[in-house]
This record gives sequence, C-alpha cells and structure tokens, in this order.
Amino acid sequence: MTASTVWLDGTLVDTAAAAPSHLANGLHYGTGVFEGIRSYATTDGPRIFRLAEHMARFAKGAAHLGMDVDIDAMAAACAEVLRANDLGDAYIRPLSWFDGGGLGLDMRVLTARHMVAAMPWSTHLGDDTKARGVTLRTSSWRRTPSTSVPALKLCGNYVNSVIARREALLAGYDEALFVDDRGFVVEGSAENVFMVRNGRVTAVQHADALPGITRDTVRELTGATSRPVTAAELAEADEIFLVGTSVEVTGVARLDERDLGVGPVTREVAALYDAVVRGQHDAGHAWLAAA
Ligand code: PMP
Repeated sequence: MTASTVWLDGTLVDTAAAAPSHLANGLHYGTGVFEGIRSYATTDGPRIFRLAEHMARFAKGAAHLGMDVDIDAMAAACAEVLRANDLGDAYIRPLSWFDGGGLGLDMRVLTARHMVAAMPWSTHLGDDTKARGVTLRTSSWRRTPSTSVPALKLCGNYVNSVIARREALLAGYDEALFVDDRGFVVEGSAENVFMVRNGRVTAVQHADALPGITRDTVRELTGATSRPVTAAELAEADEIFLVGTSVEVTGVARLDERDLGVGPVTREVAALYDAVVRGQHDAGHAWLAAA
C-alpha cells in the first residue's frame, strides 16, 4: 500500500496525479536509480535510519547515469513524505529516472524526474520470517558482474534479482542465493549474506554484491570479519542470516536441502539490530535522523 502523498520534482502531490509517461526512457530501459530506506517510530518520534549513507549510494548510481540530482533536496523529501503521510514505521523509496525526450540511449538529451514515496511498513519476505527464518535456494542464475553494471541500485539491474527470485519462489523457496562461476557466494536477490561458524560471525564479501548499509551496520555492531566465502563453506555453517534494509536481520532456516533452523547468534544479532534502529541502543543514535 502506498501513502497518498508523494514528493515529485520538488513538490508534494497526490499519488494519483503522479503517473509517469508511457514513453519514459526509464520505463523502457531501466535508466534510473533508487534507494530503499527505513524509518522507525521511536519514543522520540519518527527516525530515518542511515539516511546520509543511503543518499550517498544513490548519488553514486546517479553519477553513473550522468544524471543531475539534488541530493540534499531528496534527503529532505524523505522526511517531508513521512510527515505528509503521518508515517512512523515506513519504507521510503527515492527514485530518479530519465523521462521523455527520446527512446535513444544518449541520456544527455533527456530530462530526469525525481520522486520520493513512502509506504507503511511490511516485510517483503513475509511477516513471520523473523521467527521461523526463510528458505534459501542456490540460484542457477549469476549475479550481474560489477564489471558489467556497477553494484549499485540502478533500476534495470534488478531484472537479474527478479528472475533469480522467481526461480526460487517457483521451486517453493523464499529467496535466491547468487553464487559465482568460481563457487563463491555473492548475495541474495536483495540481501547480503552472513554466516556463523563456531561462534564467529563472518560477512560474505564479493565484488558483485551491493555494498549494503545493513551489512556495514551489522559488521560494526558485531565486529564480524569480512571475507570471500565459498558455497561449500556456507553449506557447512552453523547459522546463516540475510541482512538488508527491508529484511533487517533474518535467519536462514533452510539452505537448499539442508535444514539449519534459526540459531542463537542470529537471534541475538537480530535483537541488537532491532534495538539500534529503534533508538533503544546508544550505538545507533548517530545513525538516526529526525524526520
Ligand atoms: N543486495 C541487494 C541486491 C539489495 O537490493 C539490497 C537492498 N538494498 C541489499 C543487498 C542490502 O542492502 P542494504 O542493507 O543497503 O539495504
């Protein structure tokens, strides 16, 4: 469900009035960049988690497309849409895309449009996933190499995630795991991967994976080591969990044929992350921006 007011090119407008053109270049070729940001209803009011880092990643993606974006205005718009829609626990979606002016591939002749929408929060992998964990299936698809498309939130690149996730869903699993040609774990369709072995927490590192902000947060909170991990090593982990803005910290209860259940370290990290994003832990205060 989307809230009724959206920020579009500098003003708050009714969502119904904000329909994009059917000839928008971004619609045809995915020539756009987006972010996924969470806000939380805290005892001090709505707070946006790591807004500056999300907008910095957004700016990097826009630069690759040669797109001019007023990052400060879009960051301010994140708070504006929350207030306009009276939201606390919400998902915020900034998006900039190339609009009309031609269906060619030279973006210099096109104008960009900028939008920030917010919607009341629900988890994209399902509401009970925190308790029971998710099932993860190794994909037959490869993640787009970052030597072909930078590992940023560029719209068109998400077709890769969509087809991998679709394959997993059709096989009866919740989520897909990308593994590269050499057998190294990359990431999920929209999450970074962690594993726990003998009590040690490891953040899976891969050049083709999105540099996740939740991954960075969890590394800082747990002191996890970041290093490449093979699929064979992951298969032997005591615990596996996925992290991302929307899934937060979600345990993997099953990887392919193997049942793991959601382990104690995963539950501890998930609880810590939850306290941090809700402003109930000192470690998080610098990461929470007032809305
Ligand atoms: N990988 C991909 C492909 C994603 O889309 C996301 C979600 N943004 C993540 C990882 C997790 O990144 P973050 O923690 O910054 O949301």
